[in-house]
Amino acid sequence: MGAASEVGRSSVLVHTERTKTLLDFGVMLDHDIRFPSYVSPKDIGQIVLTHAHLDHSGAIPVLFIHKEIPVMTTKLTAELTDVLIADFIKVSGYYLPFETLELDRMLQSTTHCSLGRTVALQDIEITLLNAGHIPGSAQIYLKSGGTGLLYTGDINTTQTRLIRPADTNYPDVDYAIMESTYATVEHTDRKLLEKQFTEKAREVVEGGGTVLVPAFGVGRSQEIVCVLYKNGFPHPIYIDGMAERVGKILYENLDQLADSELYRKAMKNAHRIDNWKERKKIVSKPGVIVSPAGMLKGGPASFYSEKVSQVPRNAIFLVSFQIPGTPGRLLLEKNILAVRGRLLKVSAQVENYDFSSHCGKKELHGVLKELSRRSTRKIFVVHGEHDSSLALVEAAKQEFGLDAEIPEVGREYVL
Ligand SMILES: [Zn+2]
Repeated sequence: MGAASEVGRSSVLVHTERTKTLLDFGVMLDHDIRFPSYVSPKDIGQIVLTHAHLDHSGAIPVLFIHKEIPVMTTKLTAELTDVLIADFIKVSGYYLPFETLELDRMLQSTTHCSLGRTVALQDIEITLLNAGHIPGSAQIYLKSGGTGLLYTGDINTTQTRLIRPADTNYPDVDYAIMESTYATVEHTDRKLLEKQFTEKAREVVEGGGTVLVPAFGVGRSQEIVCVLYKNGFPHPIYIDGMAERVGKILYENLDQLADSELYRKAMKNAHRIDNWKERKKIVSKPGVIVSPAGMLKGGPASFYSEKVSQVPRNAIFLVSFQIPGTPGRLLLEKNILAVRGRLLKVSAQVENYDFSSHCGKKELHGVLKELSRRSTRKIFVVHGEHDSSLALVEAAKQEFGLDAEIPEVGREYVL
C-alpha cells in the first residue's frame, strides 16, 4: 500500500480466506502529507501497528471517520502514538482529513498485546516480536493456513542504552517483508560513537560553550540523556519539549527498556525544561540541551538553535538522519541555519553523530542470514530509497540464495 522504493507511508494489507489485516498505515511527510493507497475501512478486519512513528501510524485515524476497527499493538506504542498523532494534528490540523475525535476513537478501539504473545483472530494468528527500533516497537509475525509471514517494520538488532535489540529468533518464516533504510550504510560502532560524542560535548562545555542536541522526542532524546550519564558527563544536561512528556510515559513502562536503573538515574540527573523563562536562561549557560525537533523543523530546538549557532564556542550536534530539504540538512551541508524565515550564518561548531535506530548494512545481512536458515521462500524489500532496496535485494539473492524483490504499490502478491 506504500513504502515501496520510498521511506514513508508504510502499509501492507494481508488477505487471508476469512479476513483482511492491515499492517501499519502511515503518512509520507515530505513536501506535503501523502497517504498509502486507498482501502475501504469496511474491508479491514483488524489493524496491527508496529510502532508509533508517523510514517507507520499517522494515517490510521482516517479509517475511523465512519467506522471503528480493532487495532492491536503494544501498550507503549499505543501511548506514544497518542502523543505523536495529537501533536501531528496540532501542527498540521488544517491539512489533515481527521481530527482528535478520530484519534480518540482509534485509541478506544486499541487492544494492547505484549511482545511474544500470540493472538488468534479469525483464520490468522498474530505475534508481536521486539523490533529494537524505538520504545514499544514490534515486528509482526502472522501465521495462516500453515504459511508464516514476517513483517519487520523498522528494525534495529543493535543494543542501545535505551532499548534491547530486535528479536530475530524467528519461527518458520515462509515470506518476509523487510525494511532496507540503511542497506548501503555501515554504522559506526555504538560504544565508540558514545565515547566520541561525550568527549566532544565535554570539551565544548568545559570551554564555556553550550551544546544543542536537536533530537526526536521519542527514543533518541532519552537515549542521548542515558548515553551522557553512562559515560560520566559531569556537566548540566537539560531536556525539553515532547522529550519530557515521552520521558514520563517511559517511566511508567520501565520493563520495556534495556536498563531501567540507568534510565531512572539518567532522567533524574537531567533538568526538565518546560517554560520560556527557563529556556531563555539556559540557552547561554554551559551545558547540553536535548530538544526536539531532531531536524530543527520547529519545536524548542528552533529557538535554541538561533541563539546557540551565533557563538563560536558553542556547538550543535545532530544525532539522526537529516532528510533533504529540512533545516537540519541545510545546517549540515552548508553551515546555514534556516529559522523564522531567515538564513543565518553559523559560527558554532556543527557535528553529526550516527545514532541510528535502524539496522545498518551488516545488521540487515544478519537478518537475511536468519531468514536463509529458515528456508524463507521470498523477501519483499520495502522502506528504503530505491538504491538501498535494490542493494538488499541483490544481497539476499547473491549472498544468501534467497529470492527477493521490491514490491509495487497497489499490486497484489499471492503467497
Ligand atoms: Zn520508525
